[in-house]
Amino acid sequence: MARIPEDVIERLKREVSLERLVEASGVELKRHGADLIGLCPLHDDKDPSLVVSPKKNLWHCLGACQRGGTVIDWVMTTRDVSFRHAVEILSGGRDAHRRGRRECL
Ligand SMILES: [Zn+2]
Repeated sequence: MARIPEDVIERLKREVSLERLVEASGVELKRHGADLIGLCPLHDDKDPSLVVSPKKNLWHCLGACQRGGTVIDWVMTTRDVSFRHAVEILSGGRDAHRRGRRECL
């Protein structure tokens, strides 16, 4: 299998809105200073410990699971798919976004 070009990965990390992606997963985000916080869907979270940084387009769970990363890590973790599959999902979303629809993420 061909390797996914680094520039494709970098573009996804830059262009796909993590905030929209997390909200599309059913997580309600609230503004908290420069960041957004919400209940982490990856562990039994009662006190919002999922931190999303829209500026860096990164997320991090401060609670039990301690996971975090980029938009690609989010898709891999929440949908339980491979890196390649996550890139494909996000690429599809990006094309749709180019057509004017971002909701399909
Ligand atoms: Zn968590």
